[in-house]
This record gives sequence, C-alpha cells and structure tokens, in this order.
Amino acid sequence: MRTTDDRSAKLAATRRDFIKTASALTGTAVLCPLGWCYTARAAGQPETIVIRGHHLFDMLDALGTGKSSHKTLGPVALKVRANPKAPIKVVVGMDDICGPCEWWDRAKGICTKSLKTYPQDNENSTASDKNAIHVLGLKPGDVMKADELYRLIKARVTKKVFAEEVCVACRLVNKCKETYEPKIEAVVNALAEPRS
Ligand code: SF4
Repeated sequence: MRTTDDRSAKLAATRRDFIKTASALTGTAVLCPLGWCYTARAAGQPETIVIRGHHLFDMLDALGTGKSSHKTLGPVALKVRANPKAPIKVVVGMDDICGPCEWWDRAKGICTKSLKTYPQDNENSTASDKNAIHVLGLKPGDVMKADELYRLIKARVTKKVFAEEVCVACRLVNKCKETYEPKIEAVVNALAEPRS
C-alpha cells in the first residue's frame, strides 16, 4: 500500500522533472512554491512583453514619438522603445496593455469601453489580432525581439496590406491607413537608435 510519504516523494520528483524541462525550454528558472508555478527571468534577461496583434499597430505613434497619454498602452510602448531588444510575445486577446486597463472585463475576456455603441468592436479586434499575426508569418505565442518584429512589420505590411488584410474589419481603418507608412518608418528608426 502507498503511504503519504511515497506519494509526496513521487510528486516532488514529478515537479523536479517539470522544472528541469521547463527551464531547459525557456532559459528561465521555474519556481513552484505552494504547488503553483511561475517563471523567473535569469539575471540580465529582458522581460518578455505580451502584445496582442492589433496593438502592435496601435503602439506605432507612441513608439515613434516616445509620447503617449494612454494609461496602459503608453507605459508598455515606452518600455519597448527604451529596450529595442526586448522580447515581444504576440497573442490574440488580452495582453500587457488590456490586462491592467480599467475597461478590460477579465471574467468575460472583453473590452467594455465601447460595448454599447459598437458591439462588434471585440470581434473585430480579435480578427485584427489574428490577421496581424498571420500576415507576419507568425503564430500566437511566438516571440521576437522588438526591433526585429517592427522591421518585419515594415517589410510585410504595406499601407494596402494594413488596410485590406490586417485592420480590414476595424471602423477606424480609413483614418489610420493614411498615417500608417510614416509611422512604421519612424518606429523602425526609433528602435534602431542606440539607447543608454
Ligand atoms: S481594454 Fe479596451 S480600451 Fe483598454 S487597452 Fe484593451 S482594447 Fe484598449
């Protein structure tokens, strides 16, 4: 018959195997206090920033100019601008910008900002997330350095692709497409500048 000690030893061994495997895969230490796990960055490794597909484009202005009054997008964009080699994980849905936003409904996983006036906005934003990741030849969860990611965007997403393949469902696309090309140019240049 198995004792509690046997089961505890087996559980500990399973956790050790998980830690070893996950650490080897991610290059990070995985800590499991109290039975739940999270990853801790190794010293010197930049933090991975999680960005949903359509926010890669919403951040253009802030990345290019270094200015933004948006409460949650601004700080994320300025962090990326200050760290052009920061790894960005591209996702569909909640990211580091929506997560802390007052309009994000965590239980439903939707933005509530314009829900009554524009009930299609969430569906359209999710479509734009997927479209953005797809045109870049990436998959949700893929990680790239910020400067390389924006060079890839500049290479693959022309004004036409932006309007007809990425933000095609967005009600603001006709306005945004007019400033897209100078903005992506400014972002690539800003992320190429050496930072102290
Ligand atoms: S929750 Fe809505 S308003 Fe807030 S950052 Fe996300 S998309 Fe924008």
